[in-house]
Amino acid sequence: MDYEKIYPDVYSLFVREIGNHKIANAYLFSCMDEQDGLNFSVFVARSLLCGIMPPCGFCSQCVFENHPDVFVVKKGDEDERVKVELVREAIKFSKIPPYSFHKFVIFHQAHLMTQQSFSALLKTVEEPKSFTTFFLITSKPELLPLTILSRCIKIRLFPKNLDDFIKQKIYEKFREIGQDDLKMLIDISFLNPSILDKISDLQEIHTLVDIIKFLISAQDDKISKLNFVKLVDEYVQGRDEARKILDSAEAFIAKNIEKLGKNGVKLKDKIKLVRRNIELFLNPKAVIFNLIGEDQNC
Ligand SMILES: [Zn+2]
Repeated sequence: MDYEKIYPDVYSLFVREIGNHKIANAYLFSCMDEQDGLNFSVFVARSLLCGIMPPCGFCSQCVFENHPDVFVVKKGDEDERVKVELVREAIKFSKIPPYSFHKFVIFHQAHLMTQQSFSALLKTVEEPKSFTTFFLITSKPELLPLTILSRCIKIRLFPKNLDDFIKQKIYEKFREIGQDDLKMLIDISFLNPSILDKISDLQEIHTLVDIIKFLISAQDDKISKLNFVKLVDEYVQGRDEARKILDSAEAFIAKNIEKLGKNGVKLKDKIKLVRRNIELFLNPKAVIFNLIGEDQNC
């Protein structure tokens, strides 16, 4: 990712801080794409350890694939929240002097920490070690306690040009993608680029786009309804696939709202309604089928 182009203001801020050897103890990155927020914060950490931004790639600090002074706290795939034990481990790590000269603890999806974790973290950021910097990454800063927020320098990590950002992200993942597939991917990811991290291959893109197209025409066509049910039945295994359908359909509709007219608006509202139900442990397939039902309380 060409961060200098995507986040020029934030980039030059950190170039200055690294040049002046002045890095604060805690930063909050509010971002649109949490995976990219994580990648960017690791990039900043590695730049500081190297001494220049971007890092040189061959000095004694750059040789580590995983630097011993960078600790990433991330929720497990199966977990709903970040584990308290992992947060405790990170806090312990933050207090032990570094292997190099500085340490970084990075919290991915910081809003998914528990109350207990926030309390433990607050105590640590209130009396920070001078050799440790905390990066909190989140797309939902409003869910973090004010006591934590007030200790952090706030950074807004939003791409200067969204289309450029999404194209770069797509080319990184699908190097040889054709123009038609590229357009489809932009259509289904532009509201929520993090969906690109969850899509496994080009086949899955086609499946999602087919599902969305049938979903749209199924609003007033019986055969499309049958095709939609068949495809969803094959594709959806659990909540992850159901979420991918909702995210990509939402983006597709927003991008094409003028073309879709009334049906687009109607579908947008239905998606909002069913999204709640997915998180309520209802059967994900049944929840998605509700998108073609007439029942407005689905
Ligand atoms: Zn280096």
